[in-house]
Amino acid sequence: MRAFLSFGSNVGDRAAHLRAGVSIVAGTDRYRLSRVYETEPVGGVAQDDFWNLVMELHTEADPWALLDRAHAAERLRERTREVRWGPRTLDVDVLWVEGFTSDDPRLTVPHPRAMERAFVVVPWRELAPELVSELDVTRASGRVVALDTLEMLQ
Ligand code: ATP
Ligand code: CA
Ligand code: CA
Repeated sequence: MRAFLSFGSNVGDRAAHLRAGVSIVAGTDRYRLSRVYETEPVGGVAQDDFWNLVMELHTEADPWALLDRAHAAERLRERTREVRWGPRTLDVDVLWVEGFTSDDPRLTVPHPRAMERAFVVVPWRELAPELVSELDVTRASGRVVALDTLEMLQ
């Protein structure tokens, strides 16, 4: 089945955190990545800009296993949880999983805040224009600047 996840980093070597996260979450599954976007933080905590991207994953793993992979990636990059919406080496969120919805607070899918955020909607539309419309992009807020592919970034 098809799933989308978002990745973000705003501490230290952002490209390295994103690359490691992508590799852990994908495992041996087939995937595609959006470009990387530089984006302003949400939530009102003063901090450096984020680098964000969205992954399309083709996987047989169930959504809870995807959440486990996301948490494993965050742990590996030694993410600390100090302030909510504060700076972090790596944040991985499950955005959408084909044929699956959940309102469990440990795993809410589709991600309830995804469509408000330009840093999610803009890269997601790059991969899935049939799921994310131009209107969705217009409605989302936040400044986002396309940088390059993760491969090309230092
Ligand atoms: P936001 O969810 O607004 O982007 P955040 O990513 O900063 O905020 P975290 O501190 O990373 O929030 O996560 C808090 C909890 O959210 C996690 O413990 C996780 O179990 C839960 N959670 C619920 N739904 C999801 C989801 N779709 N993807 C990732 N985590 C989720
Ligand atoms: Ca998040
Ligand atoms: Ca998260």
